[in-house]
Amino acid sequence: MLTIDRYNGTPAVKRLGRLLAEQTIKALQSRNMNGLYFDTKGEAAQAVMDMIPEGSSVGFGGSVTLHELGLYERILKGPYQSFNRFDSTLTGPQRLEVQRHALLADVFLSGTNAITSDGRLINIDGTGNRVAALLFGPRRVIVACGVNKIVHGLESAISRVKERACPLNGDRLGLKTPCSITGSCHECHHEQRMCNLLTIIEGQKDPGRFTVVFVGENLGF
Ligand code: SF4
Repeated sequence: MLTIDRYNGTPAVKRLGRLLAEQTIKALQSRNMNGLYFDTKGEAAQAVMDMIPEGSSVGFGGSVTLHELGLYERILKGPYQSFNRFDSTLTGPQRLEVQRHALLADVFLSGTNAITSDGRLINIDGTGNRVAALLFGPRRVIVACGVNKIVHGLESAISRVKERACPLNGDRLGLKTPCSITGSCHECHHEQRMCNLLTIIEGQKDPGRFTVVFVGENLGF
């Protein structure tokens, strides 16, 4: 089955992206989760902002997608109580405290490493703060996802995470893991391992908690 590894904006790819997103949204709904599709980054970012009531406390997972949507900046400047783990003035212990507090945020924003067309979200984490918040704690979770991250089947999802997302993220962060250096996973036990935790979200109890906002563009790694 077709997937969109790198979105190039041609009409055929745009149509395929929408179809994949629509199929995945139906699958999410069958698992008590919600999904929305938008053609552009601007529309998707505005939709996410519209879902966050003024005065909410907001936590973030580290995500290139959220950066590309401009959501970190909008939340930090807006009328919200944000748990800003990216504040460069924080010491290590202070950053850890911010991450711990974010686990009880009203709203948690994140990307995802991959999503299967049958509605399962696959995420890895080095320390666990991001995947912990996706699993439990924040009252509401909003995940932003480019159509390039939709894959068919768990095996493809895990392969995408380890063979694409990890090497690119490791390189971006200047890590020395084998995948960052060689471009492929060596199933390492490196001290900087970014995939200590591997989670699969199969569904939700609360039908209002989890929403995936798809964008018909190429986002993240
Ligand atoms: S196990 Fe190591 S080499 Fe493989 S993806 Fe994770 S950090 Fe990279």
